[in-house]
Amino acid sequence: MVNSEATDTSEGASDGSWADRDGPGRSLMLAEILAQVSREALQGDGLNDVLQRIVDVVQQRLPVAIASIILLDEARTHFVQEVFAGHLQLELPVALPWSIATGAAGRCARCGQAQLIADVDADPDYVSGNAAVRSEYILPIRHRERLLGVLNIESTRSDFFTPATCRVFDAIAEQVAGAIHLARIAAELEAANARLRELSMRDGLTGIANRRCFDERLASIWPLLAREGGVLALLLVDADCFKALNDADGHLRGDDCLRTLARVCASVAVRESDLAARYGGEEFVLLLPGCDEIAAARIAEMLRARVEAEAMHHPQSSVARHVTISIGVGVVRPTPSLRPEALIAAADGALYAAKAAGRNRVVVSTAATPVVAG
Ligand code: GH3
Ligand code: MG
Ligand code: MG
Repeated sequence: MVNSEATDTSEGASDGSWADRDGPGRSLMLAEILAQVSREALQGDGLNDVLQRIVDVVQQRLPVAIASIILLDEARTHFVQEVFAGHLQLELPVALPWSIATGAAGRCARCGQAQLIADVDADPDYVSGNAAVRSEYILPIRHRERLLGVLNIESTRSDFFTPATCRVFDAIAEQVAGAIHLARIAAELEAANARLRELSMRDGLTGIANRRCFDERLASIWPLLAREGGVLALLLVDADCFKALNDADGHLRGDDCLRTLARVCASVAVRESDLAARYGGEEFVLLLPGCDEIAAARIAEMLRARVEAEAMHHPQSSVARHVTISIGVGVVRPTPSLRPEALIAAADGALYAAKAAGRNRVVVSTAATPVVAG
C-alpha cells in the first residue's frame, strides 16, 4: 500500500485534519462538510457556480486530489459538461463530449451503480489525471430515477472510502441532483416568463406590437431624447370608413384587412429604433426616433401609397373602391418640461385634420396648428 498523504501535496488544501482525527472526529468533519454542501447548494449564483462550490468544498477539506461532477446529455450517451476541482497533473486523453462507452465514469453511467475502486492501478477503466490518486468513488447523480450525471471523487489515500464516507458522498450526490433539478426549473421559468412578456407586448390579431408596448417605448425614449436632444416623429394611422367595410363584408373580412394594414405599417418601420404598433381598433401608430417632419412626411406618404397599392376591395367607402388610410404626423423635440402626450395630441390633431380634409391623406403637425401636406 502506498501511504500517499505523508509526502503528497496533491490533495486538497486541507489542514491535515483528516489524518489527525480519530473516528468520531472524522464523523463530525463529514457532517460539517455535508452541512456546508447544503448551504452552497442554496447560495450559488446559477448552476455552474453551485456545482463548483460543492466540488471545491469536497476537494479542499478532504484528502481528495480530484472532485468532479460530470453531466450527461439528454440521450444519456455522452458526458457533455464537467465541473472540476483539484490537481490535474496529466492531460486527460479525451475532450468533452465523451462517450459513456469508456472510462470508469462511463461504466458508472452505463450500469447506473456506484463504482468503488479501492486500487485505481488495478482497474482497467481508470483514466489517470493525477499520479497520487490511489482510490476512487464514482456514483450516479439521479433525480426521480433519471440519471443526470456522475459524482467523481478521487482520493490520495487507499483507506479513504469507507461505508461512512461513501454514505456522505451518496448524500452529496442527492444534493447535486436537487440543485440541477432546481436550476432546470428556474431556466424553464425564466423562458416561460420571457415568452409571457413577449406575448403581453404583442397584438393578438395582427401579431405586431400592441398599445402596451407602444406606451412603454414612448415612455422610455422620451427622457432619453430630452436629455440628449433629438427629434421624434409619431404617425397615427386610421383606416377610412372601416365601419362600413365591416358592415358590408363582415368582421372576418375586416380582420383580414387589419392584418394587411399591420403588415404594411411594419414594412415602413425599418430601422431598429422604429416601432409599428396597433394603437387600438382600426388605428395603428408608428414611432420614429430621429425623423424630422420632412422624413416623417415622406415615410407617411410611402405608407399611404403602399396601402392603396394593396388594393383591398372596399364596397362602401366614400373615398375610393379600395381600403385607404388617413395619417396624422406629429413631430416634436422632447424637452424635460414637455410631456409625451403633447406628441400624441399633435398627431391626433393632424389625423383629425386629414379626415376633415377628405381622408386618404397625410397631415403633418409640428405645433398646435396642423399643416396639410401635398
Ligand atoms: P373614419 O373614416 O372616420 O375613420 O370612419 P371609420 O368607420 O373607420 O371609423 P369608426 O370609428 O366609426 O369605426 C371604426 C370601426 O373599426 C368600428 C369597428 O367595427 C371597427 N373595428 C375596430 N376594431 C376592430 C377589429 O378588431 N376587427 C374588425 N373587423 N373591426 C374593428
Ligand atoms: Mg378610428
Ligand atoms: Mg377609421
